[in-house]
Amino acid sequence: MYALAIHGGAGSLPRADTTTERERAYRDALAAALEAGYAVLRAGGSSVEAVTRAVVALEDDPLFNAGRGAVFSYDGVNELDAAIMAGGSLAAGAICGVTHVRNPVTLARAVMEQSEYVMLAGEGAEEFALTRGFALVPREYFRTEARWRQLERIRAGDHGVSPLTISPVGTVGAVALDVHGDLAAATSTGGMTGKRHRRIGDSPIIGAGTYADNRACAVSATGHGEMFIRLAVAHDIAARVRYGGRTLSTAVHEVLHEELATLGGEGGVIALDRSGEVVMDFNAEGMFRASRREAEPARVAIYAGE
Ligand code: ASP
Repeated sequence: MYALAIHGGAGSLPRADTTTERERAYRDALAAALEAGYAVLRAGGSSVEAVTRAVVALEDDPLFNAGRGAVFSYDGVNELDAAIMAGGSLAAGAICGVTHVRNPVTLARAVMEQSEYVMLAGEGAEEFALTRGFALVPREYFRTEARWRQLERIRAGDHGVSPLTISPVGTVGAVALDVHGDLAAATSTGGMTGKRHRRIGDSPIIGAGTYADNRACAVSATGHGEMFIRLAVAHDIAARVRYGGRTLSTAVHEVLHEELATLGGEGGVIALDRSGEVVMDFNAEGMFRASRREAEPARVAIYAGE
């Protein structure tokens, strides 16, 4: 059995605000990223490679809050975070606060595979990138007008005082199970619109926004990062499965709808176990998501109940 699930962020996506054309663009982008990762699995490739390919496709698409099209910090900079984890070895790599790396997930993977560390930050991560042959891109590469207008609205006080009051949409992630029985997870984000300079969210924190363990499951999260860090959401889900005796869907449900809800956090997760069970759950209005299991058709969805 092999399987892949991806997300493109969760939050308030009232249907009235989403034109049909825009909605189609999101669905097409999700389908294309899913296929990019699924093709790896179909060819017998690794789950690590599959989540990398899927996340790269989403990072390259300006619709999503990762890579090009990432949200701006209050200072007007795109500061990017990403992580990846291999469930067989528990190897993990993460980078945070980078501003010149076109595909942050590939640098997180280089940290995992080509360094003795788990997380590198800011300039140090970019110096490491240069030593591993990455070409850095100018900051303008990440800029889109839509994200800039969102920042201007925050600066003008449109959404109240806190960037956390703006629903986060567009972080991307993937979880995969390959034909060898190995799980992997990856997440990539620009964080929260208008975030304070150097604020780091849950996405690059192993156990918070990203986790994979063959003994339990692979998880990638999206939502208000501060709450996901405080609850160690991704690891909590894996722990409930591994030694709490929960099924994957029960573990996800408890963490999202009981723990996270108690803190007032909004968001969602995609999770996958070694049997190929896919869970894509959220406590927000919607979550951009897609999945495909071996010999089954692809599934693409945005709203609850789809
Ligand atoms: N979790 C991300 C962060 O807090 C944002 C998101 O998922 O939309 O950085």
